[in-house]
Amino acid sequence: MTKLKMTNEFKTLKKFDAGNGREGYLHSLPALEEQGVGKISRLPVSIRIVLESVLRNCDGKKVRRKDVETLANWNAKAPANDEIPFVVARIVLQDFTGVPLVVDLAAMRSAVKRLGGDPKIIEPLVPVDLVVDHSVQVDFFGSAKALQLNLELEFKRNRERYQFLKWGQQAFKTFQLVPPGIGIVHQVNLEYLAKGVLSAPSTINRHPTTIFYPDTLVGTDSHTTMINGLGVVGWGVGGIEAEAGMLGQPVYFLTPEVVGLHMKGQLHEGVTATDLVLHITQLLRAQKVVGKFVEFYGEGAASLPVPDRATIGNMSPEYGATMGYFPVDQESINYLRATGRSDEQCRAFENYFRAQNMFGMPGKGEIDYSVDVDLDLADVEPSVAGPKRPQDRINLPELGKTFRALLEKPVQDGGYGKKNVDLGEKHLVQLNGSAPRDRAMASTDEIDQGINPGDERNKIEMVANRPTPDTGKEIRAASSEMFTRGQSHIGHGSVLIAAITSCTNTSNPSVMIAAALLAKKAAERGLRVDPAVKTSLAPGSRVVSDYLDQTGLQKYLDQLGFNLVGYGCTTCIGNSGPLHPNIEKAIHEFDLVAASVLSGNRNFEARVHQHIKANFLMSPPLVVAFALAGRVDIDLSREPVGKDKHGKETFLRDLWPSLREIRDTMQSALKPETFRKLYRDFADQNPKWNEIPSSTGDIYRWDETSDYIHEPPFFKNFSMEPGHVDEIRGARALGVFGDSVTTDHISPAGAIKATSPAGQYLVSRGIEHTDFNSYGSRRGNDLVMTRGTFANVRIKNLMVPGTEGGVTKYFGNGKSETGEQMSIFDAAMKYAETKTPLIIFAGHEYGAGSSRDWAAKGTRLLGVKAVVATSFERIHRSNLVGMGVLPLQFLEGASVQSLGLDGSEIFSITSLSDEIRPGHHATLEIKSKDRKSHSVPVKLRIDTPIEIDYYRHGGILPFVLRQLLAN
Ligand code: SF4
Repeated sequence: MTKLKMTNEFKTLKKFDAGNGREGYLHSLPALEEQGVGKISRLPVSIRIVLESVLRNCDGKKVRRKDVETLANWNAKAPANDEIPFVVARIVLQDFTGVPLVVDLAAMRSAVKRLGGDPKIIEPLVPVDLVVDHSVQVDFFGSAKALQLNLELEFKRNRERYQFLKWGQQAFKTFQLVPPGIGIVHQVNLEYLAKGVLSAPSTINRHPTTIFYPDTLVGTDSHTTMINGLGVVGWGVGGIEAEAGMLGQPVYFLTPEVVGLHMKGQLHEGVTATDLVLHITQLLRAQKVVGKFVEFYGEGAASLPVPDRATIGNMSPEYGATMGYFPVDQESINYLRATGRSDEQCRAFENYFRAQNMFGMPGKGEIDYSVDVDLDLADVEPSVAGPKRPQDRINLPELGKTFRALLEKPVQDGGYGKKNVDLGEKHLVQLNGSAPRDRAMASTDEIDQGINPGDERNKIEMVANRPTPDTGKEIRAASSEMFTRGQSHIGHGSVLIAAITSCTNTSNPSVMIAAALLAKKAAERGLRVDPAVKTSLAPGSRVVSDYLDQTGLQKYLDQLGFNLVGYGCTTCIGNSGPLHPNIEKAIHEFDLVAASVLSGNRNFEARVHQHIKANFLMSPPLVVAFALAGRVDIDLSREPVGKDKHGKETFLRDLWPSLREIRDTMQSALKPETFRKLYRDFADQNPKWNEIPSSTGDIYRWDETSDYIHEPPFFKNFSMEPGHVDEIRGARALGVFGDSVTTDHISPAGAIKATSPAGQYLVSRGIEHTDFNSYGSRRGNDLVMTRGTFANVRIKNLMVPGTEGGVTKYFGNGKSETGEQMSIFDAAMKYAETKTPLIIFAGHEYGAGSSRDWAAKGTRLLGVKAVVATSFERIHRSNLVGMGVLPLQFLEGASVQSLGLDGSEIFSITSLSDEIRPGHHATLEIKSKDRKSHSVPVKLRIDTPIEIDYYRHGGILPFVLRQLLAN
């Protein structure tokens, strides 16, 4: 344990009873208030926790007295326009974002070595936990062997990445790794990693003692906010910021407004935590909470158990807030206890928050918030959200009607632009032969006895008994064999993917048990799922499987095809795996608007599956219900879900479990020992992980034959001198985009198309299409990722109207009038030959979606110098600065459309120099092809003074590296 360097600038160190006979010290906020520094007891609890960090780390340099005083005097109605230096207690990573981050650390070590320094100066200064959860894909489903086979494929595909991570595990002292097959980062964080309060040894007046401080973190995943449900302050940042945080830099953010959402009342019977979070997402989106904290309080908030609070915290990115925070109260302590944390830990957590006067759910009027919002939990109704955005909530009875209207609504209005749709028209799809779904035909008794009349188990055993394949091809062949399941009829609105997925919901036993109870009732009545539906269950930890097995409910989910497919993100991150080839063919041939139903949190186009255009978010029990119904053009409050074994219509109300049933089942299922058992020595519980060989040493030996791990060019030719802020002249547009371009559009995480620049590159390296893996898994290789930037199949570059995918027009440095159509990557490389700087233009909310550092890194490596947008999403904006790319915002009223830009123009960005300040206005000069020129002011979206330094140094990493080397 690193010893804490003691600071006591405000003389606020106080002794307190940490419980179990232990005495400790804390940096007392009540003591700070007594000194008259600020009205701290009226501050939102989330602000107080950040204040504690600022106070504790106040050393007069990185954190100044002024920072403490400013935050202690936080003005609810007019927060200071100052940046807060927030030193977090720890950092969490997932593997998609974690691998490139460890690659950068390894590259920094290589750079330090080249410069003759000690590579070990590159070492995380706060604990870092990386959970490998994003790589598992649903290749196998609807089978008892699905988990094992998916895991095998995962290890085959990701071997090089996992070898590299194992090197990182031994090279960095403060870096811990949770191997694949254990769970999803945010659920593992909630159930295991989070401590509530942390402690470190220190010395006061030469006496050794212990300092206690709140558990705070940032994570390289937007849904890090899930931990806010436990009263832990934390949010998602870009990998670049997290890296700086690891290397001892504070995370800087502008003093936020805090929206207080007062909750009263109780949820009705039949309403789930998922319904509640979809309601809140819609409510808060309308309140425009982007960049703000949201704090939930009041008796309604107090009545919610921590898993429900965590579900609400999880979806902060979807409502746009930096955090969705619940203060610490008795429920928080109860949750820690119920999940097997030690008595010592629980008492320290409670005593610390009591000593800081921050224990208990605040009531109305006790705290000053910037904006007050009210919610009566009794107003929440069963709903789904989609088909493209999580904030587009639809009351359950309205879904069929809404979907039908959207089908014919014009594309530019958010619809699908179909004409004269006949929803009764279905297309026959041959799925050939018998298969796993036959299992659903077995009676409950037969299942109990392990008898499987559909021969599925025999078929699976046959597969399992084949010699272990070397390449994975045999497994894939087996996979398609397992997909074969008779025939189906599909049309617009057919449900083709039904996934119980995502930590948002899988960490919440109430909705998981509700899904299993609904499956039980359906299976007992003999209902079954159409063979065209790809069903999957991917919990966020093995605890879920434990309670589903303990209660005997898993077998009913199995009967409906919701067999366990893996412990990881799967469909939530887009790893939904292939559909049956004939299904994909039919979708393509008839241009079908097919649907997915999932308990995830994101549903923008091509996120879930490239061929599925309508994606509806919903609770796990509704996922099961819609899988049974097989379509979304339905009102499940009135129309039957299906027919039972006697041909009798069965309605949702016949299947829906009561609150009492759910509670009774939960009580018998959840035990602290289970958590302790499953989170003990998990590294040793995964033999496949232990079998992976890895290299050792402080410096990584880069292997040019690897197509997963490659030394990035960021520190090649690195010098100690930072550059200057220069004007950008003679630039060309690489892309002109509309509103809501997400980080997934910019840097997709999912499948790599064979015809894309990244696909062609991999082919040129001798890699077959079947072994491409996903973009997310190749983020350790800049050569693939640069080619994959702006390569999402759904991105629409307005420079090439009527096209989709990463194409642009190349204007050959002013020599061509009309432009030559080519891929964005090829055009960028041609422009690089003539050293032509590039600009991206975009509309509102540029960079929405997951925090994704490659969206900024790829932009930089394509040679883009500036992004000019109508507005930016928070993390992506800061990532652009962190990579030395200039974010610029059109002033009110100006836009690509108002300026009539089509991308053929030549641009300059002037009024830039080393003297720039946050919010500075630069000038965008535009020369159109008829040689007319005009110019408009644009606002520099470099928001804080430290970001000016980052930009001047060419990004955060060169900035930090120069500082470390200078020291
Ligand atoms: S399950 Fe979804 S929300 Fe959770 S970490 Fe994975 S991708 Fe993110």
